[in-house]
Amino acid sequence: MRQSGVIVRVPGKVNLQLSVGPKESDGFHEVVTVFQAIALYDDVTVRFAEKGERLALIAGTAIALEITGGTSNGVPIDTTNLAYRAAQTMIDSYDLEVSAENPLSITLKKEIPVAGGMAGGSADAAGVIVAMDALFELGLSRTEMERIASTLGSDVPFSISGGVAIGRGRGDQITPVLAQGEYHWVLALSNQGLSTPAVYNECDRLREGLTVTAPTANDQLLAALRAGDAKALGVALTNDLQSAACSLRPALRLVLDVGREYGALGNLVSGSGPTVAFLVDNEEKALDLAVALSASGVVGGVLRTSGPTHGARVIQTLH
Ligand code: ATP
Repeated sequence: MRQSGVIVRVPGKVNLQLSVGPKESDGFHEVVTVFQAIALYDDVTVRFAEKGERLALIAGTAIALEITGGTSNGVPIDTTNLAYRAAQTMIDSYDLEVSAENPLSITLKKEIPVAGGMAGGSADAAGVIVAMDALFELGLSRTEMERIASTLGSDVPFSISGGVAIGRGRGDQITPVLAQGEYHWVLALSNQGLSTPAVYNECDRLREGLTVTAPTANDQLLAALRAGDAKALGVALTNDLQSAACSLRPALRLVLDVGREYGALGNLVSGSGPTVAFLVDNEEKALDLAVALSASGVVGGVLRTSGPTHGARVIQTLH
């Protein structure tokens, strides 16, 4: 029997390195980043309408969008949602039969923090690409899916691949990285997100008058990953957007200090923030630090997780 829907699980990410080059004439920045997929997931369900079912379609489209899960607040339920945009891109690119008579339902079960620098929206877009490849039996290669993904956002190709990878260009040209070991993370969340463009603008402002060189991969960090050496990785973590995120949100400095006091192996603002990621030795240390952060009163929430983990993949087929 033909499948009527699929569920795809997609991870969030932390950036172990984020090196940002000078602002280019088109307003963008060349970056070199090292992503690690972490075990914090959104589940994306894409299915056809059941017989006689009337879906609540987004006005003027043949797609219904529903958002559930612990981090659904603040996620747009309209054509600006990255999951919708991914679906429309797939329909246009592969001439898929989706119409008011044959509509699609997309449900996002969100657990990745929103606007937290953890690629939540990108994960959903990646989930839709992988789900529609399976649902419409397109048989796309990973490379082809990553190419489509790169048209939707810099982090979307990595959300498809998962694991550990270097992202170049705008972060969308990804190459897998040899990595050993499991890494334990504590994530300090903020109640309010930070806008990625605002953080880049602040980074440019802070750098005015300085010479900014082209970004390069951090050899120490890559060697630490190859060796599975969490201590060396902790020392090598870097993020060029950290000062900008802290400048816009000074409380982040207090959060980073709590981690230092509690002996984290390393810490950094993840991506454009405001999530702060702490690398710790083991689960016990993670629990200690999570309790300290919660008690500090300077964070909106705390999560414990680990990485690396797989990229977007089908976890269930619906009949
Ligand atoms: P990145 O790490 O890739 O910079 P982020 O994790 O900081 O991204 P997202 O969670 O992707 O940020 O959300 C950024 C904004 O994108 C949100 O404030 C929201 O308005 C919008 N958005 C669009 N689609 C989604 C989606 N599916 N999930 C979450 N946010 C979305």
